[in-house]
Amino acid sequence: MTPQPAPSADYEILIAGGGMVGAALAIALGQAGYAVAVLEKQRPAAFDPASPPDVRVSAINLASEGLLKSWGAWSPMVSQRVHPYTRLAVWEKLDRPLRLPGSTQDLNRTEFSHQDVGTLWLGHIIENLVVQRALLQVVDDMPNVRLIDGAEIDRLDHEGENGGCLTLSDGRAFRGQLIIGADGALSKIREMAELGLRADPYHQHALVIAVEHGDQAQSMTWQAFTRHGPLAFLPLASVEGKHYASLVWYDAPDRLTELMALSDEQLLTTLRSEFPDHLPPLIRITQRGRFPLVKRHARSYTKAGVALVGDAAHTINPLAGQGVNLGFQDVAALARVLSDAKRKGLKPGNPAVLSAYEGQRRLQNLAMMTLMDGFYYSFSNDIKPLKLLRNLGLSVAQRFAPAKRMVLEYATGLNHFA
Ligand SMILES: Cc1cc2nc3c(=O)[nH]c(=O)nc-3n(C[C@H](O)[C@H](O)[C@H](O)COP(=O)(O)OP(=O)(O)OC[C@H]3O[C@@H](n4cnc5c(N)ncnc54)[C@H](O)[C@@H]3O)c2cc1C
Repeated sequence: MTPQPAPSADYEILIAGGGMVGAALAIALGQAGYAVAVLEKQRPAAFDPASPPDVRVSAINLASEGLLKSWGAWSPMVSQRVHPYTRLAVWEKLDRPLRLPGSTQDLNRTEFSHQDVGTLWLGHIIENLVVQRALLQVVDDMPNVRLIDGAEIDRLDHEGENGGCLTLSDGRAFRGQLIIGADGALSKIREMAELGLRADPYHQHALVIAVEHGDQAQSMTWQAFTRHGPLAFLPLASVEGKHYASLVWYDAPDRLTELMALSDEQLLTTLRSEFPDHLPPLIRITQRGRFPLVKRHARSYTKAGVALVGDAAHTINPLAGQGVNLGFQDVAALARVLSDAKRKGLKPGNPAVLSAYEGQRRLQNLAMMTLMDGFYYSFSNDIKPLKLLRNLGLSVAQRFAPAKRMVLEYATGLNHFA
């Protein structure tokens, strides 16, 4: 066995990863009175208000907005930039549109509005970096929470219910009574703590393209299902009078390789011909990124002295933009059980405390993963009866108000407030 370095510092809780979820958890646990350290490989650069939007963005739902406010991060997010959307439309792009004679309205189109649920908006589209920066800004002001930047975790020496020791690639070591893995989809903590993983790659990957467009700032986000996968439009905040959006193209990996090889001008031409007519006039591509899609679920989220949150515990198909929203619900649940444990004088690494957290989250996360798979599989084939059924479903959803409200409450997370 390699000799263990003497720990540089002791904390009650060590969080591996200061991304959106890890940073949020640090605040929630700091608010509960814990002494916390967040070990993050690389803190994002300071906000530049003149920069065009970054390619990684998330639809942040109403439930997450409420949580971000409770963690004090909403105002610092707004003072960078956020963009609300008030309508959301979904339809299937058919070779021959399903329309009444003389009408331009697609019958198989469902459109949701903030008015359907009586809120000011349905959610916001926000750059991941904006959320992460705002959360870390709150962390900086908390006396009992410390961010350790440039900290690449290399080794875990697990000591059961007593937590363990994390060693960094530069040799520094930190001890915590509870070790939390918030280190993303390829979590080292999950691997080193032997929590197990089920991983199923999807046949579609996502190409995300940040564009400047020539219309006014948009308030609707939309998604059209096509034979090769969904095409989505997410409006973004305007910067210095210029308007931006994020386009998402889901397709087979080979097709995305071809698209990535195109010049910006060629890709713009392809986007104009492949995306639905609703696309505002495109001016230029500012950034693009390709993301392989894999459904992952840790076999266990917890064991004595260790817990996982966010993408370290689960990744889902992003077609309904729910991944980090689930991560924030993990944070709220774990902070609740640990806050109770502190009041009762229990150790944070107590396995019964941690399994109460897993009990609250595993089924909820699985339900959302299964729903996303339902959408993915039912829309990614050309079987005639299924095609008829899904288009009928979209048409009924548009016309049946209670069904619409139910879908919206789930998507916006309003059901968490019930
Ligand atoms: C194309 C696409 C679109 C998406 N759209 C949405 C959306 O609209 N809405 C939504 O809710 N979700 C969306 N998601 C999902 C969302 O991006 C993720 O759920 C979210 O980023 C997970 O956050 P996290 O903090 O758990 O993990 P990460 O963002 O991966 O953060 C992990 C952090 O840990 C750090 N780290 C990793 N390893 C180490 C180490 N060894 N040592 C130290 N630090 C380490 C990293 O530097 C990083 O800061 C989308 C995902 C994709 C791929």
